[in-house]
Amino acid sequence: MTRVLLLLPTTTYRAPDFLEAARRLGVDVTVASEEPNALEGLQPAGLLTLDFGDPRACARRVAEFARTHPIDAVIGADDDTVVAAATISEALGLPANPPEAAAAARDKAMLHRRLDAAGVPNPRSRVFRLEAGPDEAARGVSYPCVLKPTFLAASRGVIRADDPDAFRGAWRRIETILRQPDVFAKGGAAANEILVEEYVPGAEVAVEGLLREGNLEVLAIFDKPDPLEGPFFEETIYVTPSRLPAATLAAIRSTTERACRALGLAHGPIHAELRVNSSGPSVIEVAARSIGGLCSRTLSFGAGISLEELILRHALRSEGGRPPRDSRPAGVMMIPIRRSGRLEKVWGLEEARTVPDVEEVVVSAHAGQLLVPLPEGSRYLGFIFSRAATVERAEAALREAYAALTFQIGD
Ligand code: ADP
Repeated sequence: MTRVLLLLPTTTYRAPDFLEAARRLGVDVTVASEEPNALEGLQPAGLLTLDFGDPRACARRVAEFARTHPIDAVIGADDDTVVAAATISEALGLPANPPEAAAAARDKAMLHRRLDAAGVPNPRSRVFRLEAGPDEAARGVSYPCVLKPTFLAASRGVIRADDPDAFRGAWRRIETILRQPDVFAKGGAAANEILVEEYVPGAEVAVEGLLREGNLEVLAIFDKPDPLEGPFFEETIYVTPSRLPAATLAAIRSTTERACRALGLAHGPIHAELRVNSSGPSVIEVAARSIGGLCSRTLSFGAGISLEELILRHALRSEGGRPPRDSRPAGVMMIPIRRSGRLEKVWGLEEARTVPDVEEVVVSAHAGQLLVPLPEGSRYLGFIFSRAATVERAEAALREAYAALTFQIGD
């Protein structure tokens, strides 16, 4: 029997879609999480506790486990698990990204160094030590710029500054985030650094792809039609196919592939963010994982094959003759948290769900949940999905559904 190890942090949005994909493929699943599960004793083959922050310890534990329950593929669904997934795969002799490449993609400072060395366009950047304080740095950089931690995700702590005053404010705010005990513990030495990049103007796209021996198959390119100009960078709408000209899309594809090579990524899913302007594409980020949140539900291959199923088949080396992607325009809106407080009630769900071309509205935040907006937070209220005859309509449907929703948030 084939067995897949899924690394699913407790905070992941990705569990149901990967579990469903495994069910459809009829493979056995072991779920590893960072917190012990009360059912672990009852289901020793199905549940494991791993500290994803210590990839070598994960590899040792899984190698021991695999003696009695052989594992055929390891999937790291989120940023926090990709290095552990690569390290475990290496220990088990399974094809995967080199752990060092997965780690390089997780470290935004290293990402810039690798891209610079390979001549792949990316924003000019500098790393500053937190203890040096913001004053000298504020005088030394050019504006506008973007300040960010090197190891967080979901735009957490990413802040644009247009002048030295804004720079100092952004620095202090990021410092507070980096001093939160859980963030500090996760970051290690990187929790003492702030990365400052030149601000790249232009349209932003997200690229979803699958690497095979270093060759990139682009599965989808998403436009992000809402302006992302800061000071915070709230992800909202993704629509595919992209409306950019064919030559620009070709440049985005080849730049993304070069970025993967520069990092040493060679195997499995990637998710990249690029900005495009008159100078061409510039790489903002490449992650060795698939798209986050529930956004993968916009993509479907052949008769309802999900992205997760595709990733599992690839990891199990059983892709076979894969049907092409459903090419109908599709979109997703990550419903942003606009103010802090506790979620009390959601109004208008039924109305939002009946908007033509809306496929699904999912409220993932639960009643009573404490909501934290950007730049401190990293969660969404939920997701709206659309599929339509045109990409314009796919986008409009998301906006109509969002307009029908009211989130009642208490203090
Ligand atoms: P995360 O990994 O937390 O998502 P990113 O580095 O990808 O952080 O930044 C999040 C978003 O912030 C990007 O998608 C982009 O919209 C914006 N951004 C980040 N860096 C820059 C930059 N140098 N120039 C312009 N926009 C940027």
